[in-house]
Parts: sequence; C-alpha cells; structure tokens
Amino acid sequence: MPVVGARVKAPFGNSEIVGLCTAVAPDVALNPQKMKPVSQVFDTEPVLNPHILELAEWTSQYYHHPLGEVIATMLPVAARRGGALQIAPSEYWQIKKAPFDNPRAKRQAALHRELEESGPLSTAAITDLGFDISILRKLAAQDWVEPLLRAPSGATNPPQLTPNPEQQTAIEAVTATLGSFTPFVLEGVTGSGKTEVYLRILEAVVQQHRQGLVLVPEISLTPQTLKRFQERFPSVGAMHSGMTDQARLQTWLKAKAGVLDVVVGTRSAVFTPFANLGCIIVDEEHDGSYKQDDGLRYNARDIATKRAQMSNVPIVLGSATPSLETLHNSLRGRFSHLTLHHRAGSAAMPTYHLIDMRGQPLRDGISNPLERTIRHHLNNDGQVLVFVNRRGFAPTLLCGDCGWQALCQACDARMTLHHNPDHLRCHHCGSRTAVPSSCRSCASKQLIPLGLGTQRTAEAIERTFSDVPVYRIDRDTVQTMRQLDEQLAHINSGEAAVLVGTQMLAKGHHFPNVTLVAILNADSGFLSVDFRAPERTAALIVQVAGRAGRAERPGEVWIQSYQPDNSTLQELIGQGYAGFARAELERRGAAHMPPQAAMAMIRADALDPAQAEQCLRDLKLQFSGIEIFGPVPAPHARIANRFRYQLMLLAPSRAQLHNTLANTNWPRANRHLRWSLDIDPYDSF
Ligand code: ADP
Ligand code: ZN
Ligand code: ZN
Repeated sequence: MPVVGARVKAPFGNSEIVGLCTAVAPDVALNPQKMKPVSQVFDTEPVLNPHILELAEWTSQYYHHPLGEVIATMLPVAARRGGALQIAPSEYWQIKKAPFDNPRAKRQAALHRELEESGPLSTAAITDLGFDISILRKLAAQDWVEPLLRAPSGATNPPQLTPNPEQQTAIEAVTATLGSFTPFVLEGVTGSGKTEVYLRILEAVVQQHRQGLVLVPEISLTPQTLKRFQERFPSVGAMHSGMTDQARLQTWLKAKAGVLDVVVGTRSAVFTPFANLGCIIVDEEHDGSYKQDDGLRYNARDIATKRAQMSNVPIVLGSATPSLETLHNSLRGRFSHLTLHHRAGSAAMPTYHLIDMRGQPLRDGISNPLERTIRHHLNNDGQVLVFVNRRGFAPTLLCGDCGWQALCQACDARMTLHHNPDHLRCHHCGSRTAVPSSCRSCASKQLIPLGLGTQRTAEAIERTFSDVPVYRIDRDTVQTMRQLDEQLAHINSGEAAVLVGTQMLAKGHHFPNVTLVAILNADSGFLSVDFRAPERTAALIVQVAGRAGRAERPGEVWIQSYQPDNSTLQELIGQGYAGFARAELERRGAAHMPPQAAMAMIRADALDPAQAEQCLRDLKLQFSGIEIFGPVPAPHARIANRFRYQLMLLAPSRAQLHNTLANTNWPRANRHLRWSLDIDPYDSF
C-alpha cells in the first residue's frame, strides 16, 4: 500500500503513467472495470508532505485548476517521472569507516588515507590530488567515505553593517513574531537596505534551527544576488529557471531534508518543501514575474502568503512600490506595515526633473537639454542609465508616401525593425522576415523606422558620446543570468559609461556609480488601456529612478514627456509612489476594480474566430449574479494565426466569484479550441 504523498505508477488507458498518491481508501470494493491497482510504488516516504499537499488542495480550489496539474507544477521536472530521489554526493567528502581493509585496491587505499589525514575534501580538491573520480565512487559505493551535507567550514561572515533605527525596528518587529503567522509589508524606498533587513531576520530564523524561503523576481536572481546570501549563511540553495532539472531537484531534496538554511528562488520556488520552515520573504513583491502566465496561472506572492498562514510563520512582502493588492491588505489591517523612509548609509533620494518635449527638436528621441545633462554627468565620471521600454531598433516600419506599415502575417501586430543583422521580427509570435527595400503597397523607397527601441538609442548614444563605453541590456543582448551578472560586474567596476536598457535594468540591481537616470518616453505606459497601466508605469518609473545615486554621489532623474501635465505623472513626482498609490487605490475602489473587487479572465483562442467566441458565449450563459464583460476580441485579436477572445468577470467579493466559477461546466479543449481561466489576472487582456 503506498503512503500518501508517494509517487506510483498506474494503468491509464492503454499505457501507464506516474502519479502521486493523494489518498488511500483500502475498503473500496475493487471494480476491475473501473478501478485498477497501481503497478508500482516508487517511494516509501512521501515526496510531498501533508503540508504541501494541503497547499496543493488550496491552490487547486483557489485557481479552479485540476489537482493533478497543480501537483505536477509543484514537483521538480526531474521528480515527475519515477525513479529514486536521492541527494547527490555533495562537493565534500569525509571518512565513514576506518581502517581501510582492502590493501589490493591501492588507489582507493591512498585516497582513504589522504582523507583520514587531511579531513574533508572537496571533489575538486580530490581530483586535483590526482585521483580519478571513479576511485572516489568506488570508495563511496562501499561506504568507506561519505558526502558531507554541509561545507566543512560552518563559519559565516559576521555582518559588517549596523542596521539603522528604521531597519532595526523592522527586524525586531518580524523576529518577535517567529513561530506565528504574521504578514508584513516592508515598504522601503529604493536603496533603503531591505536586503539587510531580510538577512538579519533570516539569521534569527537559522539560529532557531529553522529554514528561510526567499523569493525574488525572475531577473534579479543573478550570481551576485546569491552571493549576498551565501556570504551570510553556510548553506544556501538556489532555485531558478537557469538551472538544470537535476540541480533544481537537488535544492528541492536538500531543503526537504532540512540540510539547507535558506532557499533563494524565483516563482516556482514557492512550492519547495522544507523540513522546518521558519519564515518567507518575497522581495519586490509587486513584480509581474511572480504571476505565471500559462498552465496554472498562479501568483507566487499570494501562494506564499497562504503558505505562511498554513505553516504558522511570518512573511515579509518587501518593495519600494508595493502592489495595490498588498497596500489594500495593509490599509485594511490584514498586514502589518513597516516603512523605511530613508536610504541606508549616506545615500540621498534622487531629484526629479521633467522635460516638456512638445515642440523640442529631437535626435533619435533625445532632446537637447537631456543631451547636455548626459554630457555633464559623463564629464564628472558619473554613469548614465537610459531607460527605453522597447527592444530592437524601431517598433514600426512605415511608408512615408502611403502610410503602409510592416505587419506580421500571422498576428494583428506590427513588426519590429532590428539591426545587425537587419530583419523584421514579430515580438508576439517570433517570426522573422527580411526588411523590404520598398513599400509593399506603393513601391516607394521612403521607408521610415518609427519610434525608439534600445538598439536605436544605443547606436545614437554611441555616435554622440563616442568617448565612453555604451552597454545595451535587454533580452536580445543578455540571455542568461550569468551574462547579466558579467555585464553588471563590468559596469560596477566604475568608469564613466552609458547603460541603455529595458526594465531588465530596473529590477533590484545596485549600480553605485549611476548618477543620472533618463526616461525617454514616460508617456507610453500611461496611455495603455489596461486598468493596471498607471500602477505598473508608476512602479517602473520609481524603480528605474531608484537606480540613481545609490552610493555617496547624489542622483538625478530626468523624464521626457509629451504630457508633462499628466495627472498621474504629477502625482507621482509630487507625492512619491506612496501618495500616488493611495490615490490610485481610491480610484480603483470608485471604479469597482481589483483589489476592491475580484476579477477573473476567461480567454479562448481558435483558428476559427467564431469558435473561440462561441465557446465564451456558451460559458457566459452559465454565469449569473456577477458582472460579465464580453466576449470581446483580445487587444491583439490574432496571434500566430489563432483568433483570441476574452470574457471578463468581476464580483464584489472573492466568495461570489468563487461560487460562480465552482459550478461551471467547463468546455473540452482540443487542438482547434483552447481556453484558459485566469484568477486575479495581471494583464486584463
Ligand atoms: P534595497 O534592497 O532596499 O533597494 P539594498 O539592500 O540593496 O537596498 O541596500 C542598498 C545599499 O545600502 C547596499 O549597498 C547596502 O550595502 C547598503 N546598506 C544597507 N543597510 C545599511 C546600513 N545599515 N548602513 C550602511 N549601509 C547600508
Ligand atoms: Zn507606400
Ligand atoms: Zn507575429
């Protein structure tokens, strides 16, 4: 009989599949037509303990998603099939049995002696000494040596920073609640030393022999970030998409076995099992990368909060720009609010300057006052960060004679012009084509690249400021976290330079030498129809601006805008994010939008638009008692030749939304028709 939480193999149709045992009902009379015995049990111990299974149940109910798929999402890829789950031999080895009694195995005897004399050695040190890895394996197989689960030097570097009074208050507030569920919002301006607060809290957790889980946004988990945690704790595990399936499995198993003090990971790390969880930290909790946008569309921040409650541990949601959801919970008294008003150490907050672009001559998107300011900062050995929200050269290729635009064949979208090598690329479906030499409609040669991408801006800056290095940082130039880390290390070595990049540059990175941040077109974000656009744009501006003046030298932020009177922009600059966010929260409430209402989005797509629309029409008939908008075509109504429709559901309370959805007969998806349900959508399209 399998234990609950063990993986089993069972017949399914004509084949066998691996699944997880979620319950055992020994008395059920076996009906051989309907029920079949499992054919293999892989684990004697549960792979998912009751805590995690309970979390799976909750997740399945909250997101109205099949339990089996939730569990599959929770399991590391390498654990979804059968097979043994073992902690791999770690880097260090020590003697298990002595004396070695097989003198004929000379090399094994020699390595055994070496380890007896020198104490634990790393695998690398052993091979450095001239022993083949196979010798080590043979010794290990016969239990002569064993892996050390922790690195032999258990010492941690004592923290050098003395927390300032605001940090101290936050640290004490959280550590006083260890052992109970208390949710905290840590609203700390950029550079206020939130990480130091996390580290001190984690130290208290580890002292109690418990473990800490730290979630960070996708793009923040560079080796540099990891190092900050590794320096403080002897045993830190990472969990992110850049790791191999095996490496992720290892972190997962070690956390489960209680061998790791701290796990630092991205979204899916929220499902890591722990022997003794003591605290959860979600850094940059507002970040969109916590929301999964396919399959199980969960928000790791929200699951983390539920998990903290189930495990009876505190959770800290940290951000300079808390999401309105989190702020709402705080204002309702559900979350305790901690604030860091000031930057840590000697750094001051940057000052804002707005450039009215109306009537200004522009060169590649840069106005004269901005160009002079960039020059001034570079002359003073400062670094300049130029933020552009589009990658590529130009987002549009337009005919100057007839207005024709280069569109994607498969999508309702414009093609983005890229240089080096020259091509047009669709950022929705990924298709590429050659750049036409003349207009496809009127054959004119007057094709004009319209708008600004990072590539165009970087090229323009290289021409204008040819005496300094220019770094372009976006998804085209930086594909792995290691590459990002290398770029950051170059930049932080200090010389005058210009950094041109997308939001990749905004997230949590520390640039001590950046004294000027320039935002080239602040308006585009505010113009979007999405109800979250003002919040997201404001957060982005504040986060990008927060890269300026993080060390001794003060920073400036220059914002170019065609709408300098835009009320949101004025509110943001005048009252800061805190003021903007509270006003925006009231506007949301007045419009009956989240977080004061519960939202769900149902999306359907098909090769035949009528089929997608009909699917949502049929669903709509089942719903009553809540507000329903649609079905309407999605803003990009066709992507990769599939037509997309959406139905938006809004209810005054979560319970009402839940009840409506719980009794739905969902359609069957097939190759022709796909549909999805998104609870608490991040994008309202
Ligand atoms: P945040 O995550 O809030 O943006 P960080 O944790 O990255 O800020 O800290 C910003 C900088 O301030 C870092 O260089 C950090 O070493 C420094 N710092 C943090 N706390 C202190 C302190 N108490 N005294 C001096 N410097 C500090
Ligand atoms: Zn034309
Ligand atoms: Zn396309």
